Amino acid sequence: MEKISIIDAKNYVNEKVKIGVWLTNKRSSGKIAFLQLRDGSAFFQGVVVKSNVSEETFKLAKEVKQEASLYVVGTIHEDSRSHFGYEIEIEEIEIVGESENYPITPKEHGTDFLMDHRHLWLRSKRQYAIMQIRNEMIRATYEFFNKEGFIKFDAPILTGSAPEGTTELFHTEYFDKDAYLSQSGQLYEEAGAMAYGKVFSFGPTFRAEKSKTRRHLIEFWMIEPEMAFMHQEESLEIQERYIAFLVQGVLDNCDYALTILERDKDVLKKYTKLPFPRISYDEAIKILQDSKEFPNITWGEDFGSPEETYLANQFEQPVFVLNYPKAIKPFYMKPHPTRDDVVICADLLAPEGYGEIIGGSERAVDPEYLEKQIQKAGLDSKEYQWYLDLRRYGSVPHAGFGLGLERAVTWITGESHIREAIPFPRLLNRIYP
Ligand code: ATP
Ligand code: MG
Ligand code: MG
Ligand code: MG
Repeated sequence: MEKISIIDAKNYVNEKVKIGVWLTNKRSSGKIAFLQLRDGSAFFQGVVVKSNVSEETFKLAKEVKQEASLYVVGTIHEDSRSHFGYEIEIEEIEIVGESENYPITPKEHGTDFLMDHRHLWLRSKRQYAIMQIRNEMIRATYEFFNKEGFIKFDAPILTGSAPEGTTELFHTEYFDKDAYLSQSGQLYEEAGAMAYGKVFSFGPTFRAEKSKTRRHLIEFWMIEPEMAFMHQEESLEIQERYIAFLVQGVLDNCDYALTILERDKDVLKKYTKLPFPRISYDEAIKILQDSKEFPNITWGEDFGSPEETYLANQFEQPVFVLNYPKAIKPFYMKPHPTRDDVVICADLLAPEGYGEIIGGSERAVDPEYLEKQIQKAGLDSKEYQWYLDLRRYGSVPHAGFGLGLERAVTWITGESHIREAIPFPRLLNRIYP
């Protein structure tokens, strides 16, 4: 008899197997008990028929508590009524670990209660589905960038200088010096691109976001590709191919998770159609000014969530907004060749109200221009000499972008809040558990 995972049940129909599981829920009558089981790989039902098992086994089935861990031995059957398609007819039960009264019961709980019990909440079905999709997106990310000839090139988490303004920075001590937790690995990725051509980093980034929104975490994971000998238009093509690849990966490999989340697959399929529409910042301003909601927006303003949501709602696919005003973008973006007031950049806005999922740009290559921009931004140019070296020794056109993993997971899973897109979310006022 083989010890298997629930997810492999389809290969063992009518066979006797052993599975290590936890009990998530149960109901029973005098003659039959239905045990809802999970093992991490999937969820399914175990059926215990009194007349087919020992008295002791049926008693165990009736008395076992929620989240107790068990070994069950039984025969796999098809079960067309369930999401999963299979169930196990249990013959023997062995208790591995008893459970106390489990705090998360099948009734509804408030968000604060669930967040306080995040370490247990992760065991529930929806959380399982979200983590499966997150995992698939990470897997597909590696596959995509490997296939496209990128190497993974990780940026440091501890940095010695404060890149983009100081309000969102976490400060720490580095022996007798100051250090900051990384807000973005981009500048280091540029060094990587000059060394190895096409690189990407994937790691945690930290921002002391002082406001509560559904889209911002304090600690989130960012994927940051950077490409040498590449202009912005080619970068946009990589970005849209990457997004389509992520969505296709989820459609191909996460059918069960999407079903649990009741995510509409036809909606997701639209996000695999390329190209994505492109509008300029100027056009975006015009669209907003012509709307009922934002008639008073003026050229030069940055977009917040409501503006991004309105703009994205005009399209069925994600939309690129190109060339924002120079004044609201970081110092390293390439100035427009014929216009003084905008830079060569793009934000990719997701439909369905999820806002910016990618921010990217072509990078400025002229060291004198950059040095001036660094000073204008109030940064200490001594700390950026290494960065300016990248322009002094064989500078080339290059571009890159950053995608927030959890932002994208929230969108693709159709969840309403980013806190469920990461195992242990760090939020304003929450660092427990
Ligand atoms: P936003 O406008 O939403 O605050 P941003 O422009 O500050 O985002 P970038 O610096 O461009 O963000 O970072 C690149 C990507 O990282 C964003 O497009 C988004 O997907 C993600 N991101 C940024 N901030 C957060 C955050 N606090 N939590 C989760 N993801 C984030
Ligand atoms: Mg921000
Ligand atoms: Mg933004
Ligand atoms: Mg951005």
